[in-house]
Amino acid sequence: MQVPAFPENEALRMAALRATDMLFTPAEERFDRITRLASRLLGTPIALVSLVADKCQWFKSARGLAATETPREVSFCGHAILGDETFVVENATQDARFSGNPLVTGDPNIRFYAGHPLHTADGSRVGALCVLDRSPRKLSVEQREVLRDLAALVETELQRGQLSETQRDLIRERDELRRKASIDGLTRMWNRASIMEVAGAEIARAMRGTPMCVAMIDADHFKRVNDSHGHPAGDAVLVELAGRISRGVREFDAVGRYGGEEFFAVLSNCSIEAAQAVCERIRGSVAGDPIATPAGLIGVTVSIGLAAYDSAHTDLESLLGAADAALYRAKNNGRNRVEVEGRH
Ligand code: GH3
Ligand code: MG
Ligand code: MG
Repeated sequence: MQVPAFPENEALRMAALRATDMLFTPAEERFDRITRLASRLLGTPIALVSLVADKCQWFKSARGLAATETPREVSFCGHAILGDETFVVENATQDARFSGNPLVTGDPNIRFYAGHPLHTADGSRVGALCVLDRSPRKLSVEQREVLRDLAALVETELQRGQLSETQRDLIRERDELRRKASIDGLTRMWNRASIMEVAGAEIARAMRGTPMCVAMIDADHFKRVNDSHGHPAGDAVLVELAGRISRGVREFDAVGRYGGEEFFAVLSNCSIEAAQAVCERIRGSVAGDPIATPAGLIGVTVSIGLAAYDSAHTDLESLLGAADAALYRAKNNGRNRVEVEGRH
């Protein structure tokens, strides 16, 4: 196996990567959308936005792979960032650089790799958009073009910080280890402690006059999903639920995994009417289409409790209590519903 060389401008490259504020941050729909397209258009089971950090490659978006990172020494993307062209390995078992690579000899059993380098504005190659397959393949000229175009879209997104100020502050004040520990491993959303911190910081802003709402989102009868289809299928449902919630909120809203099958959304700068529309959109997008899992299609619904920062709810505890009370009502009123605290 060949360990990828460090580029000559490694220090500058790492500085450019760190300046994107993307490393070890929650998944964002605007990147997931692109890996979803890449894997569909190119017909590969796996597509990744990989950021090559000093010791690891870390996935800002990963479709078809549960891992969030691998050591840089075994990464294919570590090779892809060494040039400006698309880096292609048609059959890793036939390539001396990769045949002994643990990602080839073991899980996820990579055979085919195609990665296009991702540049920041100063030209640094900070990572790659790549597609992977477990069978050998070739990349046609048209497919090469698709990958290059999609990589250009990722580059645009890398330059466009979209997380809210409170989330950005949270990221900047944490070192890389703490950042990693802030993200829920299954859904790649903020974990409970971090989304609570975001909510607390947004409340401080609400006190200065910016309207905000919070929503507690709970999967209905989720125990039945596990009982009928098994825990791994349940996990796949949770991952897709997280995706639909992220697609339902606005780009700068913060979402986290509050508990097992419970999610929490912080809707900043948002009136209760607008928040209600967001929650209805989420509810509808979950109820509208069943979720594809390894155990087949599974239909689920969610109940949502919504509460606004107002004179009756001025701290996190009371806002949480209000959202919980509304959720309780949504459950009692038949589930697959949005209820708003204070409005019966
Ligand atoms: P309700 O409509 O009242 O919310 O019913 P429910 O079954 O969703 O609620 P309950 O709290 O009784 O059960 C939640 C279930 O969620 C039980 C637990 O096994 C499951 N769960 C929690 N965390 C995970 C997880 O990480 N993966 C999977 N697959 N299941 C989980
Ligand atoms: Mg629950
Ligand atoms: Mg539930």
